[in-house]
Amino acid sequence: MEQPETFRALGVAEFFYRNRAIAGFTNPTRSVYQTIRELVENALDATEMHGIPPDIRVIVKKLQSESDFDLLEITVEDNGIGIPPEHVPRAFCSVLYGSKYVNRQSRGVFGLGVKMAVLYSQLTTGRPVKVVTSPLGDPAVYEFEMTIDIKTNTPKVLKKSVSRSNNFQGTKVTLYIEGSWGSAKSRVVEYIKRTAIIAPYANIYFRYPEDDSYRILRFSRSTTELPPAPREVLPHPYGVDAERLKSMIEHEEPNKTLLRFITEHFAGVGRVTAAKFLRESGFGVRRTLRTLKDKDIVRLARAMKTWKWKRPGGEGLSPLGEEILKLGIQEVLKPEFIATTCRPPSSYEGYGFIVECGLAWGGAIQPAQTPSIIRFANRIPLLYDENIDVTRKVVDKIDWSTYKVAFPAPLVVVTHVCSTKLPFHGLGKEAIADIPELEHEIEMAVRDCARRLREHLSRIERETRHIRRLITIKKYIPIVASSLSSILETNSKDIEDSLFKMLEARRHGG
Ligand code: ADP
Ligand code: MG
Repeated sequence: MEQPETFRALGVAEFFYRNRAIAGFTNPTRSVYQTIRELVENALDATEMHGIPPDIRVIVKKLQSESDFDLLEITVEDNGIGIPPEHVPRAFCSVLYGSKYVNRQSRGVFGLGVKMAVLYSQLTTGRPVKVVTSPLGDPAVYEFEMTIDIKTNTPKVLKKSVSRSNNFQGTKVTLYIEGSWGSAKSRVVEYIKRTAIIAPYANIYFRYPEDDSYRILRFSRSTTELPPAPREVLPHPYGVDAERLKSMIEHEEPNKTLLRFITEHFAGVGRVTAAKFLRESGFGVRRTLRTLKDKDIVRLARAMKTWKWKRPGGEGLSPLGEEILKLGIQEVLKPEFIATTCRPPSSYEGYGFIVECGLAWGGAIQPAQTPSIIRFANRIPLLYDENIDVTRKVVDKIDWSTYKVAFPAPLVVVTHVCSTKLPFHGLGKEAIADIPELEHEIEMAVRDCARRLREHLSRIERETRHIRRLITIKKYIPIVASSLSSILETNSKDIEDSLFKMLEARRHGG
Protein backbone atom coordinates (compact mmCIF):
# COMPACT_ATOMS: atom_id res chain seq x y z
CA MET A 1 0.00 0.00 0.00
CA GLU A 2 1.25 3.46 -0.81
CA GLN A 3 2.55 5.48 2.18
CA PRO A 4 0.78 8.79 2.75
CA GLU A 5 2.92 11.85 2.15
CA THR A 6 4.33 13.52 5.27
CA PHE A 7 4.19 17.28 5.44
CA ARG A 8 6.34 19.62 7.49
CA ALA A 9 7.79 23.10 7.22
CA LEU A 10 11.49 23.48 6.61
CA GLY A 11 13.30 25.66 9.16
CA VAL A 12 15.13 28.68 7.83
CA ALA A 13 18.59 27.43 8.89
CA GLU A 14 17.82 24.05 7.39
CA PHE A 15 16.73 25.70 4.15
CA PHE A 16 20.00 27.58 3.79
CA TYR A 17 21.97 24.55 4.90
CA ARG A 18 20.41 22.57 2.06
CA ASN A 19 20.69 25.38 -0.45
CA ARG A 20 24.05 26.86 0.47
CA ALA A 21 25.00 27.12 -3.21
CA ILE A 22 22.78 30.17 -3.61
CA ALA A 23 24.96 32.04 -1.13
CA GLY A 24 28.18 31.12 -2.90
CA PHE A 25 29.11 27.94 -1.00
CA THR A 26 29.17 25.81 -4.13
CA ASN A 27 32.42 23.82 -3.89
CA PRO A 28 35.56 23.43 -1.71
CA THR A 29 37.40 26.19 -3.58
CA ARG A 30 34.70 28.80 -3.69
CA SER A 31 33.66 28.06 -0.10
CA VAL A 32 37.12 29.06 1.19
CA TYR A 33 36.90 32.33 -0.71
CA GLN A 34 33.31 32.93 0.40
CA THR A 35 34.13 32.28 4.07
CA ILE A 36 36.99 34.78 4.04
CA ARG A 37 34.89 37.27 2.17
CA GLU A 38 32.00 37.16 4.63
CA LEU A 39 34.36 37.69 7.56
CA VAL A 40 36.30 40.52 5.90
CA GLU A 41 33.11 42.29 4.81
CA ASN A 42 31.76 42.22 8.35
CA ALA A 43 35.10 43.50 9.64
CA LEU A 44 35.07 46.42 7.19
CA ASP A 45 31.42 47.25 7.91
CA ALA A 46 32.22 47.29 11.64
CA THR A 47 35.02 49.81 11.15
CA GLU A 48 34.70 52.24 8.24
CA MET A 49 30.90 52.48 8.39
CA HIS A 50 31.44 53.93 11.86
CA GLY A 51 34.32 56.25 10.98
CA ILE A 52 37.11 53.98 12.29
CA PRO A 53 40.10 53.58 9.92
CA PRO A 54 40.22 49.78 9.58
CA ASP A 55 43.04 47.57 10.80
CA ILE A 56 42.20 44.14 9.45
CA ARG A 57 44.18 40.94 9.98
CA VAL A 58 43.35 37.83 8.00
CA ILE A 59 45.19 34.66 8.95
CA VAL A 60 44.75 31.35 7.17
CA LYS A 61 46.44 28.26 8.61
CA LYS A 62 46.57 24.81 7.11
CA LEU A 63 46.17 22.39 10.01
CA GLN A 64 46.04 19.21 7.99
CA SER A 65 46.29 18.27 4.34
CA GLU A 66 44.72 15.38 2.45
CA SER A 67 44.98 14.87 -1.31
CA ASP A 68 42.39 17.45 -2.35
CA PHE A 69 41.15 18.77 0.98
CA ASP A 70 42.81 20.86 3.62
CA LEU A 71 41.66 21.49 7.13
CA LEU A 72 41.89 25.27 7.40
CA GLU A 73 41.75 27.61 10.35
CA ILE A 74 40.56 31.03 9.22
CA THR A 75 40.78 34.03 11.54
CA VAL A 76 39.74 37.59 10.78
CA GLU A 77 40.34 40.32 13.31
CA ASP A 78 39.20 43.95 13.22
CA ASN A 79 39.34 47.10 15.35
CA GLY A 80 35.65 47.84 14.84
CA ILE A 81 32.73 48.62 17.07
CA GLY A 82 32.48 45.03 18.40
CA ILE A 83 29.24 43.24 19.20
CA PRO A 84 27.30 43.55 22.46
CA PRO A 85 27.54 40.11 24.14
CA GLU A 86 23.78 39.59 24.22
CA HIS A 87 23.70 39.72 20.40
CA VAL A 88 26.75 37.55 19.69
CA PRO A 89 25.08 34.10 19.69
CA ARG A 90 22.29 35.09 17.33
CA ALA A 91 24.50 37.30 15.12
CA PHE A 92 26.68 34.27 14.37
CA CYS A 93 24.35 31.32 14.84
CA SER A 94 20.82 32.34 13.94
CA VAL A 95 20.18 32.72 10.22
CA LEU A 96 18.63 36.05 9.18
CA TYR A 97 19.65 37.92 12.34
CA GLY A 98 21.64 41.11 11.90
CA SER A 99 21.94 44.85 12.35
CA LYS A 100 21.92 45.91 8.71
CA TYR A 101 18.22 45.61 7.86
CA VAL A 102 17.99 49.35 7.43
CA ASN A 103 17.82 51.55 4.38
CA ARG A 104 21.56 52.25 4.28
CA GLN A 105 24.47 51.34 2.05
CA SER A 106 26.51 48.54 3.62
CA ARG A 107 28.34 45.44 2.50
CA GLY A 108 26.11 43.04 4.38
CA VAL A 109 22.42 43.12 3.58
CA PHE A 110 20.92 39.73 4.13
CA GLY A 111 21.80 38.99 7.78
CA LEU A 112 23.00 35.73 6.35
CA GLY A 113 26.65 35.88 5.36
CA VAL A 114 28.57 34.79 8.40
CA LYS A 115 25.95 32.17 9.31
CA MET A 116 26.50 30.50 5.93
CA ALA A 117 30.19 30.31 6.74
CA VAL A 118 29.39 28.89 10.20
CA LEU A 119 27.02 26.33 8.64
CA TYR A 120 29.68 25.33 6.13
CA SER A 121 32.25 25.00 8.90
CA GLN A 122 29.86 22.88 10.94
CA LEU A 123 29.08 20.70 7.95
CA THR A 124 32.72 20.05 7.01
CA THR A 125 34.55 19.95 10.36
CA GLY A 126 31.89 19.95 13.08
CA ARG A 127 33.92 22.52 15.01
CA PRO A 128 32.29 25.54 16.68
CA VAL A 129 32.86 29.14 15.63
CA LYS A 130 35.02 31.14 18.06
CA VAL A 131 34.21 34.81 18.59
CA VAL A 132 36.21 37.20 20.74
CA THR A 133 34.75 40.68 20.96
CA SER A 134 35.10 43.85 22.95
CA PRO A 135 32.39 46.37 22.09
CA LEU A 136 33.10 50.08 21.90
CA GLY A 137 33.05 51.66 25.37
CA ASP A 138 32.97 48.30 27.18
CA PRO A 139 36.16 47.40 29.10
CA ALA A 140 35.39 43.66 28.94
CA VAL A 141 36.36 41.04 26.37
CA TYR A 142 33.78 38.35 25.69
CA GLU A 143 34.73 34.97 24.27
CA PHE A 144 32.25 32.53 22.79
CA GLU A 145 32.30 29.10 21.19
CA MET A 146 29.06 28.29 19.44
CA THR A 147 27.28 26.09 16.91
CA ILE A 148 23.96 26.42 15.09
CA ASP A 149 21.09 24.12 15.93
CA ILE A 150 20.05 23.65 12.33
CA LYS A 151 16.57 22.28 13.05
CA THR A 152 15.51 25.22 15.22
CA ASN A 153 17.81 27.97 13.83
CA THR A 154 19.02 28.78 17.35
CA PRO A 155 22.55 29.16 18.72
CA LYS A 156 24.11 26.58 21.04
CA VAL A 157 26.71 28.29 23.22
CA LEU A 158 29.34 25.72 24.17
CA LYS A 159 31.70 28.06 26.03
CA LYS A 160 31.49 31.62 27.21
CA SER A 161 33.93 33.69 29.26
CA VAL A 162 34.50 37.32 30.19
CA SER A 163 37.82 38.99 30.95
CA ARG A 164 39.18 42.49 31.16
CA SER A 165 40.36 44.05 27.94
CA ASN A 166 43.98 44.97 27.64
CA ASN A 167 43.65 47.41 24.83
CA PHE A 168 41.72 45.12 22.53
CA GLN A 169 38.72 46.66 20.88
CA GLY A 170 36.92 45.04 18.01
CA THR A 171 36.15 41.50 16.99
CA LYS A 172 38.09 38.37 16.15
CA VAL A 173 36.32 35.44 14.52
CA THR A 174 37.82 31.99 13.96
CA LEU A 175 36.27 29.30 11.79
CA TYR A 176 37.48 25.81 10.89
CA ILE A 177 36.56 24.62 7.44
CA GLU A 178 37.52 21.91 5.03
CA GLY A 179 38.40 23.35 1.67
CA SER A 180 40.89 23.30 -1.11
CA TRP A 181 43.51 25.97 -0.37
CA GLY A 182 45.66 25.18 -3.41
CA SER A 183 42.95 26.20 -5.84
CA ALA A 184 41.38 28.93 -3.68
CA LYS A 185 44.63 30.78 -2.98
CA SER A 186 44.87 32.90 -6.11
CA ARG A 187 41.24 34.03 -5.80
CA VAL A 188 41.64 34.94 -2.16
CA VAL A 189 44.85 36.88 -2.85
CA GLU A 190 43.07 38.70 -5.67
CA TYR A 191 40.14 39.44 -3.34
CA ILE A 192 42.46 40.95 -0.72
CA LYS A 193 44.26 43.06 -3.35
CA ARG A 194 40.98 44.40 -4.65
CA THR A 195 39.85 45.12 -1.13
CA ALA A 196 43.01 47.22 -0.76
CA ILE A 197 42.08 49.15 -3.94
CA ILE A 198 38.65 50.06 -2.63
CA ALA A 199 39.87 50.73 0.93
CA PRO A 200 43.15 52.68 0.65
CA TYR A 201 42.43 54.00 4.15
CA ALA A 202 42.78 50.49 5.63
CA ASN A 203 45.75 48.59 6.98
CA ILE A 204 45.38 45.05 5.74
CA TYR A 205 47.57 42.19 6.89
CA PHE A 206 47.07 38.82 5.23
CA ARG A 207 49.04 35.73 6.19
CA TYR A 208 48.47 32.53 4.23
CA PRO A 209 50.05 29.14 3.63
CA GLU A 210 52.34 28.71 0.65
CA ASP A 211 54.26 25.50 -0.04
CA ASP A 212 55.41 24.31 3.38
CA SER A 213 55.70 27.80 4.77
CA TYR A 214 53.60 30.93 4.70
CA ARG A 215 53.52 34.29 2.99
CA ILE A 216 52.50 37.74 4.11
CA LEU A 217 50.71 40.31 2.00
CA ARG A 218 50.47 43.72 3.57
CA PHE A 219 48.82 46.94 2.46
CA SER A 220 49.39 50.08 4.50
CA ARG A 221 46.89 52.88 4.34
CA SER A 222 47.84 55.66 1.95
CA THR A 223 45.34 58.06 3.51
CA THR A 224 43.59 58.39 6.84
CA GLU A 225 40.71 60.14 5.17
CA LEU A 226 37.60 57.97 5.15
CA PRO A 227 34.82 58.67 2.69
CA PRO A 228 31.79 60.03 4.59
CA ALA A 229 29.96 57.15 6.30
CA PRO A 230 26.73 56.07 4.61
CA ARG A 231 23.60 57.27 6.40
CA GLU A 232 20.30 55.55 6.88
CA VAL A 233 17.71 57.15 4.63
CA LEU A 234 13.93 57.10 4.32
CA PRO A 235 12.54 55.01 1.47
CA HIS A 236 11.42 56.70 -1.73
CA PRO A 237 7.70 56.33 -2.55
CA TYR A 238 8.62 54.40 -5.73
CA GLY A 239 10.41 51.76 -3.64
CA VAL A 240 7.55 50.54 -1.43
CA ASP A 241 4.93 47.87 -2.02
CA ALA A 242 1.61 47.12 -0.32
CA GLU A 243 3.13 44.74 2.26
CA ARG A 244 5.75 47.24 3.34
CA LEU A 245 3.18 50.04 3.51
CA LYS A 246 0.89 47.85 5.59
CA SER A 247 3.56 47.07 8.11
CA MET A 248 4.61 50.73 8.30
CA ILE A 249 0.99 51.75 8.92
CA GLU A 250 0.52 49.05 11.58
CA HIS A 251 3.36 50.57 13.58
CA GLU A 252 1.74 54.01 13.47
CA GLU A 253 -0.73 55.96 15.55
CA PRO A 254 -4.14 55.17 13.87
CA ASN A 255 -5.37 58.75 14.26
CA LYS A 256 -2.46 60.16 12.30
CA THR A 257 -3.46 61.65 8.96
CA LEU A 258 -2.27 60.05 5.76
CA LEU A 259 -0.78 63.43 4.89
CA ARG A 260 1.47 63.41 7.96
CA PHE A 261 2.35 59.74 7.53
CA ILE A 262 3.58 60.28 3.98
CA THR A 263 5.63 63.38 4.78
CA GLU A 264 7.25 61.71 7.79
CA HIS A 265 8.13 58.35 6.26
CA PHE A 266 9.22 59.03 2.71
CA ALA A 267 12.27 60.70 1.28
CA GLY A 268 11.90 64.05 -0.44
CA VAL A 269 8.13 64.41 0.16
CA GLY A 270 7.08 67.73 1.67
CA ARG A 271 3.57 68.75 2.79
CA VAL A 272 2.68 70.48 -0.46
CA THR A 273 3.74 67.55 -2.62
CA ALA A 274 2.02 65.04 -0.33
CA ALA A 275 -1.23 67.03 -0.36
CA LYS A 276 -1.14 67.26 -4.15
CA PHE A 277 -0.53 63.53 -4.44
CA LEU A 278 -3.38 62.67 -2.04
CA ARG A 279 -5.83 64.94 -3.82
CA GLU A 280 -4.90 63.69 -7.28
CA SER A 281 -5.05 60.03 -6.28
CA GLY A 282 -8.44 60.41 -4.64
CA PHE A 283 -7.50 59.88 -0.98
CA GLY A 284 -8.04 63.43 0.19
CA VAL A 285 -5.84 65.27 2.67
CA ARG A 286 -7.91 64.73 5.81
CA ARG A 287 -8.08 60.96 5.81
CA THR A 288 -6.60 59.11 8.82
CA LEU A 289 -4.71 55.84 8.81
CA ARG A 290 -7.50 54.16 10.81
CA THR A 291 -9.86 54.40 7.84
CA LEU A 292 -7.58 52.50 5.47
CA LYS A 293 -8.77 48.98 4.64
CA ASP A 294 -6.40 46.44 3.06
CA LYS A 295 -7.71 47.23 -0.41
CA ASP A 296 -7.07 50.96 0.17
CA ILE A 297 -3.46 50.19 1.11
CA VAL A 298 -3.00 48.21 -2.11
CA ARG A 299 -4.48 51.16 -4.04
CA LEU A 300 -2.24 53.60 -2.16
CA ALA A 301 0.87 51.55 -2.95
CA ARG A 302 -0.07 51.46 -6.62
CA ALA A 303 -0.74 55.20 -6.69
CA MET A 304 2.62 55.90 -5.01
CA LYS A 305 4.45 53.83 -7.60
CA THR A 306 2.93 55.68 -10.55
CA TRP A 307 2.71 59.30 -9.37
CA LYS A 308 5.24 61.87 -10.64
CA TRP A 309 7.50 62.21 -7.57
CA LYS A 310 10.88 63.80 -7.63
CA ARG A 311 13.29 60.95 -8.39
CA PRO A 312 15.44 59.64 -5.54
CA GLY A 313 18.97 60.98 -5.37
CA GLY A 314 22.10 59.72 -3.73
CA GLU A 315 21.05 60.68 -0.19
CA GLY A 316 23.07 58.79 2.36
CA LEU A 317 25.18 56.96 -0.25
CA SER A 318 28.93 56.91 0.03
CA PRO A 319 31.09 56.48 -3.04
CA LEU A 320 34.85 56.70 -2.45
CA GLY A 321 35.25 59.87 -4.48
CA GLU A 322 37.69 60.47 -7.33
CA GLU A 323 40.72 61.16 -5.13
CA ILE A 324 40.47 58.17 -2.79
CA LEU A 325 39.70 55.81 -5.66
CA LYS A 326 42.79 57.10 -7.45
CA LEU A 327 44.94 56.42 -4.37
CA GLY A 328 43.67 52.86 -4.14
CA ILE A 329 44.33 52.17 -7.82
CA GLN A 330 47.80 53.74 -7.60
CA GLU A 331 48.78 51.75 -4.52
CA VAL A 332 47.80 48.35 -5.89
CA LEU A 333 48.00 48.49 -9.71
CA LYS A 334 50.90 50.98 -10.01
CA PRO A 335 49.94 52.22 -13.50
CA GLU A 336 51.42 55.06 -15.55
CA PHE A 337 48.09 56.87 -15.98
CA ILE A 338 44.83 56.95 -14.02
CA ALA A 339 41.54 58.72 -14.73
CA THR A 340 38.71 58.52 -12.20
CA THR A 341 35.22 59.93 -12.26
CA CYS A 342 32.20 59.96 -9.97
CA ARG A 343 28.79 60.31 -11.64
CA PRO A 344 25.92 62.33 -10.18
CA PRO A 345 23.27 60.25 -8.37
CA SER A 346 20.66 58.39 -10.42
CA SER A 347 17.91 55.90 -9.60
CA TYR A 348 16.09 52.74 -10.61
CA GLU A 349 12.76 51.50 -9.23
CA GLY A 350 12.86 54.00 -6.40
CA TYR A 351 16.39 53.23 -5.26
CA GLY A 352 19.11 55.83 -5.57
CA PHE A 353 22.53 54.78 -6.81
CA ILE A 354 25.88 56.32 -7.67
CA VAL A 355 28.46 54.97 -10.13
CA GLU A 356 32.15 55.77 -10.00
CA CYS A 357 34.78 54.53 -12.34
CA GLY A 358 38.53 54.48 -12.87
CA LEU A 359 40.70 53.64 -15.86
CA ALA A 360 44.28 52.58 -15.31
CA TRP A 361 46.81 52.34 -18.10
CA GLY A 362 50.41 51.13 -18.48
CA GLY A 363 53.05 50.98 -15.77
CA ALA A 364 52.92 47.64 -13.95
CA ILE A 365 49.77 46.53 -15.82
CA GLN A 366 50.37 43.64 -18.21
CA PRO A 367 48.98 44.06 -21.75
CA ALA A 368 45.97 41.83 -22.52
CA GLN A 369 43.66 41.16 -25.46
CA THR A 370 40.67 42.80 -23.75
CA PRO A 371 40.38 45.40 -20.98
CA SER A 372 40.69 43.76 -17.55
CA ILE A 373 37.76 44.56 -15.32
CA ILE A 374 37.76 45.16 -11.58
CA ARG A 375 34.24 45.47 -10.19
CA PHE A 376 32.99 46.70 -6.85
CA ALA A 377 29.49 46.98 -5.41
CA ASN A 378 29.04 48.88 -2.14
CA ARG A 379 32.81 48.52 -1.75
CA ILE A 380 32.71 44.73 -2.14
CA PRO A 381 35.06 43.32 -4.78
CA LEU A 382 33.17 41.06 -7.18
CA LEU A 383 35.30 38.24 -8.54
CA TYR A 384 32.99 35.62 -9.96
CA ASP A 385 30.38 35.73 -12.74
CA GLU A 386 32.04 38.60 -14.60
CA ASN A 387 30.49 37.45 -17.88
CA ILE A 388 26.94 38.22 -16.65
CA ASP A 389 27.82 41.53 -15.00
CA VAL A 390 26.62 44.83 -16.41
CA THR A 391 30.18 46.28 -16.46
CA ARG A 392 31.35 43.48 -18.78
CA LYS A 393 28.45 44.28 -21.09
CA VAL A 394 29.36 47.98 -21.18
CA VAL A 395 33.09 47.40 -21.68
CA ASP A 396 32.45 44.95 -24.52
CA LYS A 397 30.05 47.36 -26.21
CA ILE A 398 32.62 50.16 -26.38
CA ASP A 399 34.74 50.48 -29.52
CA TRP A 400 38.05 51.13 -27.80
CA SER A 401 39.82 52.15 -31.01
CA THR A 402 37.91 55.46 -30.85
CA TYR A 403 39.90 56.11 -27.68
CA LYS A 404 43.20 55.23 -29.38
CA VAL A 405 43.44 51.90 -27.57
CA ALA A 406 44.80 49.08 -29.71
CA PHE A 407 44.88 45.59 -28.19
CA PRO A 408 46.88 43.94 -26.67
CA ALA A 409 46.82 46.87 -24.29
CA PRO A 410 47.65 47.45 -20.59
CA LEU A 411 44.16 48.67 -19.67
CA VAL A 412 42.13 48.07 -16.49
CA VAL A 413 38.56 49.33 -16.03
CA VAL A 414 37.46 49.77 -12.41
CA THR A 415 33.76 50.30 -11.63
CA HIS A 416 32.06 50.87 -8.30
CA VAL A 417 28.28 50.97 -7.83
CA CYS A 418 26.79 52.17 -4.53
CA SER A 419 23.14 51.81 -3.60
CA THR A 420 20.92 51.00 -0.65
CA LYS A 421 19.66 48.17 -2.83
CA LEU A 422 21.88 46.64 -5.48
CA PRO A 423 20.34 44.55 -8.23
CA PHE A 424 22.52 41.45 -7.70
CA HIS A 425 22.12 38.22 -9.65
CA GLY A 426 21.49 35.81 -6.73
CA LEU A 427 22.51 35.81 -3.06
CA GLY A 428 26.16 35.07 -3.86
CA LYS A 429 26.44 38.84 -4.55
CA GLU A 430 28.96 38.41 -7.37
CA ALA A 431 27.36 40.12 -10.37
CA ILE A 432 25.12 43.12 -10.96
CA ALA A 433 22.19 42.85 -13.34
CA ASP A 434 21.94 45.02 -16.45
CA ILE A 435 19.24 47.39 -15.25
CA PRO A 436 19.05 50.04 -18.07
CA GLU A 437 19.56 53.07 -15.78
CA LEU A 438 22.61 51.46 -14.26
CA GLU A 439 24.03 50.40 -17.59
CA HIS A 440 23.67 53.96 -18.86
CA GLU A 441 25.49 55.48 -15.87
CA ILE A 442 28.33 52.95 -16.07
CA GLU A 443 28.73 53.64 -19.76
CA MET A 444 28.83 57.42 -19.20
CA ALA A 445 31.43 56.97 -16.45
CA VAL A 446 33.67 54.63 -18.46
CA ARG A 447 33.48 56.85 -21.55
CA ASP A 448 34.32 59.93 -19.51
CA CYS A 449 37.51 58.27 -18.24
CA ALA A 450 38.22 56.83 -21.70
CA ARG A 451 38.17 60.35 -23.20
CA ARG A 452 40.84 61.40 -20.73
CA LEU A 453 42.84 58.31 -21.56
CA ARG A 454 42.63 59.27 -25.24
CA GLU A 455 44.02 62.72 -24.44
CA HIS A 456 46.84 61.11 -22.52
CA LEU A 457 47.61 58.69 -25.35
CA SER A 458 47.47 61.50 -27.94
CA ARG A 459 49.88 63.55 -25.87
CA ILE A 460 52.29 60.63 -25.68
CA GLU A 461 51.92 60.07 -29.42
CA ARG A 462 52.73 63.74 -30.10
CA GLU A 463 55.73 63.68 -27.80
CA THR A 464 57.06 60.47 -29.34
CA ARG A 465 56.70 61.93 -32.83
CA HIS A 466 58.50 65.06 -31.76
CA ILE A 467 61.38 63.17 -30.15
CA ARG A 468 61.80 60.99 -33.23
CA ARG A 469 62.07 64.10 -35.39
CA LEU A 470 64.68 65.60 -33.09
CA ILE A 471 66.76 62.43 -33.23
CA THR A 472 66.70 62.50 -37.05
CA ILE A 473 67.63 66.18 -37.20
CA LYS A 474 70.45 65.71 -34.71
CA LYS A 475 71.95 63.03 -36.94
CA TYR A 476 72.31 65.57 -39.79
CA ILE A 477 73.65 68.52 -37.79
CA PRO A 478 77.40 67.58 -38.01
CA ILE A 479 77.10 67.03 -41.80
CA VAL A 480 75.25 70.32 -42.34
CA ALA A 481 77.69 72.15 -40.06
CA SER A 482 80.71 70.88 -41.90
CA SER A 483 79.32 71.89 -45.35
CA LEU A 484 78.35 75.32 -44.01
CA SER A 485 81.77 75.78 -42.45
CA SER A 486 83.50 75.38 -45.80
CA ILE A 487 81.10 77.84 -47.49
CA LEU A 488 81.24 80.40 -44.67
CA GLU A 489 84.87 79.69 -43.84
CA THR A 490 84.17 79.45 -40.11
CA ASN A 491 84.78 76.82 -37.52
CA SER A 492 82.48 73.83 -38.03
CA LYS A 493 82.29 73.18 -34.25
CA ASP A 494 80.86 76.68 -33.63
CA ILE A 495 78.17 76.17 -36.27
CA GLU A 496 77.34 72.78 -34.84
CA ASP A 497 76.95 74.34 -31.35
CA SER A 498 74.64 77.08 -32.59
CA LEU A 499 72.50 74.61 -34.52
CA PHE A 500 72.14 72.41 -31.42
CA LYS A 501 71.23 75.49 -29.37
CA MET A 502 68.56 76.46 -31.90
CA LEU A 503 67.12 72.97 -31.80
CA GLU A 504 67.03 72.92 -28.00
CA ALA A 505 65.33 76.36 -27.96
CA ARG A 506 62.65 75.12 -30.37
CA ARG A 507 62.13 71.95 -28.33
CA HIS A 508 61.60 73.85 -25.11
CA GLY A 509 59.45 76.39 -26.84
CA GLY A 510 57.20 73.48 -27.95
P1 ADP B 1 24.97 40.92 7.55
O1 ADP B 1 26.43 41.29 7.45
O2 ADP B 1 24.33 40.74 6.21
O3 ADP B 1 24.19 41.79 8.47
P2 ADP B 1 26.03 38.58 8.87
O4 ADP B 1 25.42 37.24 9.12
O5 ADP B 1 27.28 38.58 8.09
O6 ADP B 1 24.90 39.46 8.21
O7 ADP B 1 26.30 39.28 10.26
C1 ADP B 1 25.25 39.38 11.21
C2 ADP B 1 25.45 40.54 12.15
O8 ADP B 1 26.53 40.28 13.04
C3 ADP B 1 25.83 41.84 11.47
O9 ADP B 1 24.67 42.53 11.03
C4 ADP B 1 26.55 42.59 12.58
O10 ADP B 1 25.64 43.24 13.42
C5 ADP B 1 27.20 41.48 13.39
N1 ADP B 1 28.63 41.28 13.08
C6 ADP B 1 29.20 40.27 12.38
N2 ADP B 1 30.54 40.39 12.33
C7 ADP B 1 30.85 41.52 13.01
C8 ADP B 1 32.10 42.20 13.31
N3 ADP B 1 33.28 41.76 12.89
N4 ADP B 1 32.01 43.34 14.06
C9 ADP B 1 30.80 43.82 14.48
N5 ADP B 1 29.61 43.22 14.21
C10 ADP B 1 29.62 42.09 13.48
MG1 MG C 1 27.89 40.09 6.61
